[in-house]
Amino acid sequence: MTTVTHLECSVCGKRREAAKVHNLCECSGPLLVLYDLEQAKATWSRDTLTKGPSSMWRYAPVLPVRDQASIISLGEGMTPMLETRRLGARLGARDLWVKDEGLNPTGSFKARGLSCAVSMCVELGIHKVAIPSAGNAASALAAYAAAAGIEAHIFMPRDVPQSNYIECKAFGAHVTLVDGLISDCGRMVAERKDVEGWFDISTLKEPYRIEGKKTMGYEVAEQLDWTLPDAIFYPAGGGVGLIGMWKAFGEMEALGWISNKRPKMIAVQTEGCQPVVRAFERGESKSEFWENAHTVAAGLRVPKPLGDALMLDAIRKSGGTAIAVSDEELLDGSLELGADEGIFAAPEGGACVAALRKLLASGFLKPEERIVLYNTGAGLKYLEAFSTRFPRATSSEQDKLGGLITPR
Ligand SMILES: *Cc1c(COP(=O)(O)O)cnc(C)c1O
Ligand SMILES: [Zn+2]
Repeated sequence: MTTVTHLECSVCGKRREAAKVHNLCECSGPLLVLYDLEQAKATWSRDTLTKGPSSMWRYAPVLPVRDQASIISLGEGMTPMLETRRLGARLGARDLWVKDEGLNPTGSFKARGLSCAVSMCVELGIHKVAIPSAGNAASALAAYAAAAGIEAHIFMPRDVPQSNYIECKAFGAHVTLVDGLISDCGRMVAERKDVEGWFDISTLKEPYRIEGKKTMGYEVAEQLDWTLPDAIFYPAGGGVGLIGMWKAFGEMEALGWISNKRPKMIAVQTEGCQPVVRAFERGESKSEFWENAHTVAAGLRVPKPLGDALMLDAIRKSGGTAIAVSDEELLDGSLELGADEGIFAAPEGGACVAALRKLLASGFLKPEERIVLYNTGAGLKYLEAFSTRFPRATSSEQDKLGGLITPR
């Protein structure tokens, strides 16, 4: 089982005990989980792990849960790694792959983080959790809380995709719609949690979601036969997936599973909310709050990511970059993945296609490089956004224009 040793603040380095309830460090730095990788190496290998479950829990020795009975799994992880058939050729990328996270429970990679975090709640005896969410994290928390039999309190912007709202209700969560952004939702959770006795399960404010998300990094290596690609495109909101993968690469190197070669980590944001792109371009180590954040890619509407410093550090160390695309470009990207590959990608995944086109055009990437795009969610969750491209006829006149035929 787990080889967890302790937790450590990513800012001041202060150590804490594992198997305890934790939020941020008192210096307000996010905490990271550390493992005894020598012990893991002695008892576990790239070969033996394939005998584990066909889910992210095959990596249990580098996940924080101690007692297997605490694990709340709905089959998250081990998502397909698909070699593109047409998209790469059309864009001029000869070795292009898509990691399709849309196939996770509740249709996004958020399932990984919340499977891990909710399992830790079970292990630590937490019965009530609260989350501010731009959408998919709420759906995933609601599902895993239902499976665990714990109470979920969800705060989300009132304009989240309808799918997220309905999923949360269907999973029996307590939902509050907020006339504001995820940052406003976060403040509401912070204000109420002590009185209500909620554990705040916000991104990086608890240390275990990132551990679940990092399994995307283990899987990319396993599925590419223990090599890493030359570049990874990741649609970054809070950036936890990117930070998590970076952590996973370091762990795998310590386990002796991969070399010290790292992919260029490319964070993709949108023109309407690009705090990390701006900070990257200005050479700063932290981002600034992005005013009036707006984009149809709900998961990317994070005006001030808590993990900005960690994300910027990983991007720079990897020789990667950060780039923004417009909402029109990212919807086009999703539809290209759809028509070329049969993958109905979330707008966030479509953003990676648009960013790839730009970085091939600029010469930042070469046609022969091995590139993996992360499609972080299912397009089916964003029907309102895609309806702008495919409006359905209402009057009978428009029905004819839209191709409606009356059977005789
Ligand atoms: C949350 C979310 C993101 C951003 O994830 P981070 O790891 O926090 O940057 C991207 N895509 C989708 C579909 C999401 O739900
Ligand atoms: Zn600290």
